Amino acid sequence: HLPTADLQRLDAAHHLHPFTNGAELAEKGARVITRADGVMLTDSEGVEILDGMAGLWCVNLGYGRKELAEVAAAQMAQLPYYNTFFQTTHPPVVALSARIAELAPGNLNHVFFAGSGSEANDTNIRLVRHYWALKGKPEKKTVISRKNAYHGSSMGSGSLGGMAGMHAQGGMPIPDITHIDQPYWYGEGGDMDPAEFGLARARALEAEIDRIGEDKVAAFIAEPIQGAGAVIIPPETYWPEIQRICDERDILLIADEVICGFGRTGNWFGSQTLGIRPDIMTIAKGLSSGYQPIGGSVLSDEVAEVISSDEFAHGYTYSGHPVACAVALENLRLLEEEKVIEHVRDTAAPYLAQKWREIGDHPMVGEARIIGMMGALEMSPDKANRAPFKAEKGTVGLRCRERCFANGLVMRHVGDTMIISPPLIMTPADIDLLFERVVKSLDETLAG
Ligand code: PLP
Repeated sequence: HLPTADLQRLDAAHHLHPFTNGAELAEKGARVITRADGVMLTDSEGVEILDGMAGLWCVNLGYGRKELAEVAAAQMAQLPYYNTFFQTTHPPVVALSARIAELAPGNLNHVFFAGSGSEANDTNIRLVRHYWALKGKPEKKTVISRKNAYHGSSMGSGSLGGMAGMHAQGGMPIPDITHIDQPYWYGEGGDMDPAEFGLARARALEAEIDRIGEDKVAAFIAEPIQGAGAVIIPPETYWPEIQRICDERDILLIADEVICGFGRTGNWFGSQTLGIRPDIMTIAKGLSSGYQPIGGSVLSDEVAEVISSDEFAHGYTYSGHPVACAVALENLRLLEEEKVIEHVRDTAAPYLAQKWREIGDHPMVGEARIIGMMGALEMSPDKANRAPFKAEKGTVGLRCRERCFANGLVMRHVGDTMIISPPLIMTPADIDLLFERVVKSLDETLAG
């Protein structure tokens, strides 16, 4: 490939990056990643970087799996494309749907495929509204979500999301989507204890249903654990109360499993870890370990039966793409055969949690929280009071992220909170290396 400086110049001249400041990009140039293997990325200068984020929370199986490349090549040679519109199907989409139905909890047995998590959540908006219309309740169309949630970047999924920065651009949210407060005890719990706070934040859903009117609310959507929001692990009281409210008030519950699904929390789905019984799950990312773009909505028997009673006028050219389905199926086979989820539960997550507790004692860290293979470090100058830094929010986080990168580690920052979500295959030795690099980066951030 071209020398790094040429790649950076052409990139800045012609490539518009998602979630990237163009002026900074032009000044500093993008980091060029050219290869990856296992848990390590390699940049264009040959420097190895530990991927603490599994790409964008997606490379669950790690990089460089030849089996996935071979399955993709074989499928491309045999049937590179066909669609699933108008009563056609093909073997990979059949096999993948059946496998997802086996793995999914409860009676979530039916998959509507999309090319991404955003498309799947767009599907969900139409799907829940159409479901209620078919049941003779067309007024039930509001979807309630949460502030600071991330559910994608399209007009519909970005509206479901509750990110103020996104809503400030381009006319979101679209009508009939509302947002309640998130169960973020560290940042918003004040003097309440976590259990009391969890209940209060769950009951905000009931208050919102009452405000809008139960006969106008179609669904509530939430991630089992908010990922991009900053790995917000709700207090234990939260989900049981949300479940009770959705059951009693006849509101469909959509669990967005785009990050939590496929092993990240130590079970196939985050809903299993947190005891949630969703009517619909959104899946993407870990479904193919990011090797192919694919997402979907997994529906309960009851929801699917209603939707299938009519033609659902909705679909994407790449719904059930054969190559993506074949790769996803092989990814699921490898996750199972190599007992990756057991590895998370029995080895990687307990060891990571132990290391995370140690990091919690670092003078920069106000709270270190972790569940499965996703965690956050709330940085604070005053642990006892959970106080923020005086500098503009995000300044310290950005500095820390840059220190991490200089020390050979990808971590993400959400404001002044540092996030990890590494590949699930991390060994204890990888976790030791991660720990060493996090501590070094925190030390350097503290030194200024
Ligand atoms: N839902 C959640 C919880 C996500 O984290 C994301 C992406 O980060 C999405 C949906 C959107 O998925 P995609 O980027 O594949 O459109």
